Amino acid sequence: MVVVHENNAPHHVVIIGGGFGGLYTAKTLAKANVNVTLIDKRNFHLFQPLLYQVATGTLSPADISSPLRAVFRKSKNTKVLLGEVNDIDPEAQEVILGDRTIPYDTLVVATGANHSYYGHDNWRPLAPGLKTVEDAIEIRRRIFSAFEAAEKETDPELRRAWLTFVIVGAGPTGVELAGAISELAYKTLKEDFRNIDTSETKILLLQGGERILPHMAPQLSKVAKVSLQKLGVVTQTNTRVTNIENDIVTFKQGDKVQEIASKTILWAAGVKGSSIGQVLANRTGVECDRSGRVIVEPDLTIKGYKNIFVIGDLGNFSHQDGKPLPGVAPVAKQEGEYVAKLIQKRLQGQTLPQFRYNDVGSLAMIGKNLAVVDLSFIKLQGFLAWIFWLVVHIYFLIEFDTKLVVVFQWAWNYITRNRRSRLITGRETFEEAKTVTNDVSLTTLKKNSEVRIQESASMSRARVLHVKNQPAS
Ligand SMILES: Cc1cc2nc3c(=O)[nH]c(=O)nc-3n(C[C@H](O)[C@H](O)[C@H](O)COP(=O)(O)OP(=O)(O)OC[C@H]3O[C@@H](n4cnc5c(N)ncnc54)[C@H](O)[C@@H]3O)c2cc1C
Repeated sequence: MVVVHENNAPHHVVIIGGGFGGLYTAKTLAKANVNVTLIDKRNFHLFQPLLYQVATGTLSPADISSPLRAVFRKSKNTKVLLGEVNDIDPEAQEVILGDRTIPYDTLVVATGANHSYYGHDNWRPLAPGLKTVEDAIEIRRRIFSAFEAAEKETDPELRRAWLTFVIVGAGPTGVELAGAISELAYKTLKEDFRNIDTSETKILLLQGGERILPHMAPQLSKVAKVSLQKLGVVTQTNTRVTNIENDIVTFKQGDKVQEIASKTILWAAGVKGSSIGQVLANRTGVECDRSGRVIVEPDLTIKGYKNIFVIGDLGNFSHQDGKPLPGVAPVAKQEGEYVAKLIQKRLQGQTLPQFRYNDVGSLAMIGKNLAVVDLSFIKLQGFLAWIFWLVVHIYFLIEFDTKLVVVFQWAWNYITRNRRSRLITGRETFEEAKTVTNDVSLTTLKKNSEVRIQESASMSRARVLHVKNQPAS
């Protein structure tokens, strides 16, 4: 369907989401004879594959973020709008942003996915996932606060809990987090503390399926497992988490139920489509899969609406081999490019064959000099794979100055093993107070004042902690 406006105004493409899908749609349309409005609730594109390096103190948030206005500075047909879309009216062809409506001729929905706790949303604050800059800063705060708290802790059991890190989910993010925490504990921080030996840190990586990195070739999963073992990470497969409560993770492997006390539990398991998927389902009757992803047609439109495309992590495209494409950046990028080309073809009265994903393979970093790379024509491991991983990530970073900063940080980190971004910052400056034990009640929590913690009835000892004037940064 091609819309020609009476006043000859160009076709208006509205893109929701400036992640990989939306960004590459807009970039590919930059020279087309269309008007583009790119809407995002953030004013920057976030390079999520490197978020774990923010969470573990190697990079700063700005190193992996590109302001959308700067990216599209030279694209005169592209308008960037900051705002959160909360509704779509497909009959009126309008996108609704609070009390404002934006008309469209073609709509591209690329709002990505969020974490799924498989119905246990109460675990969310106890085991944060990694998706946004805020998540990364929160995880960084928890990791570095854990070492600080362990340094002060005199009770050996609690100290052990502080030095125990549990990661749920052994896809690339879980594996990369585990490797990076190991590097911190056994190398970077080793000489920085006086009361604790950071190499007593325990890192447990739990995986529901039968192998880690399940999307990779089995031999690479094995290599990754052995490499992690050498780094001090214990991996446990075929294991389901059944409860997270009071800093205790309960998990089940077959009939065996185990518990571990950990003050830092991180979630790198399931995903679910962003809420705009449900909005589309309610408004158009399109079907969503069990993970809330919108089922799309072979040309990435939704059933009955030739002018609405859903791409990236929010879409379920199962027209290639019957299975949905994975939620990875190259899928979102290629879908964005395809949609942009299809829109231009349609404006010329033509069309394109259905979308086809060109699988370029997958990679995961395990640690210094250690990665695994699974390409269709070659499998790499160890140092070569690590170099390949670095080059690919640098290549895909969006802005040139960001690439330089990241290269510099990596080189510095490689030589010194230092991590410059080890800042403990975050929403509650006095979170430390909560950290004294898992079973305390906070009687007062006020910034710039004293905080007192009282033990609950089940505690065996009284603990009082005073925190004064901690600067928020
Ligand atoms: C920690 C982590 C590590 C990863 N590592 C890799 C990796 O190594 N390799 C790889 O290929 N892939 C990796 N991925 C996956 C990859 O990042 C995603 O597949 C990709 O980002 C999907 O792109 P997208 O455009 O669909 O969504 P996103 O990139 O998530 O972008 C969605 C955008 O929509 C915006 N948005 C959402 N809702 C609204 C709304 N209502 N209104 C306005 N804007 C909205 C968001 O602010 C965001 O900018 C990783 C993901 C994570 C979280």
